Amino acid sequence: MPDIRSNIERIRATLPSGVTLIAVSKYHPVEAIAKAYSVGERHFGESKAQDLRLKHQALPQDIKWHFIGHLQSNKIKYIASFVHLIHSVDTLRLLQEINRHAANADRIIPCLLQIHIAQEDTKFGFTTDECRAMLDEGTWRTLKNIQIRGLMCMASNTDNTTQIREEFEAVKALFDEIKQKHFGNDDSFDTFSAGMSDDYTIAIEAGSTHIRIGSDIFAQ
Ligand SMILES: *Cc1c(COP(=O)(O)O)cnc(C)c1O
Repeated sequence: MPDIRSNIERIRATLPSGVTLIAVSKYHPVEAIAKAYSVGERHFGESKAQDLRLKHQALPQDIKWHFIGHLQSNKIKYIASFVHLIHSVDTLRLLQEINRHAANADRIIPCLLQIHIAQEDTKFGFTTDECRAMLDEGTWRTLKNIQIRGLMCMASNTDNTTQIREEFEAVKALFDEIKQKHFGNDDSFDTFSAGMSDDYTIAIEAGSTHIRIGSDIFAQ
């Protein structure tokens, strides 16, 4: 078993204040999560709704569960009653469905809009123009049981750190633009989820507030 405690402590020691570490526990058993919990970690990320539900049931109730994977509308029901933050909203339709489930659960679900910035075709998300158009159109303002808290992105899977930096900076610029245009004085738009095991230091330099680390904690 990897030394989860020292991995978490090593990463934490490098984080500026104001950056939240999310331990991405997808593919890892509840024992590994319990180990991270025992050294004080409370934010965990999962990418499959049914796995998330099972882990939520098996583990302490004060864990803050982040959903980071592609979310299908028919899976929202598994997580709507407890999820802390959904990072991966990629259509208005999905936002509307989350809103409906949140209303049934009598809660407001915080959400991030996922921005497609990487070169790969395989990554989900709004393009920057689609995101602008969706916010300008305004339907989202009528959805009372979701709260848009910010943006999420994944950089290209490349060794070219200049490219990675430019991608994170482009999404941070979009974040600033949206905050000013649509959220004005409302400080609830405050979350920029960017950075994984291989690129989180670059993401933090670009302004990330939430880093999502899997392999650096659970797989080495
Ligand atoms: C798996 C995953 C991560 C964690 O990736 P690592 O490289 O293992 O740190 C972060 N974000 C998303 C969206 C993921 O799917």
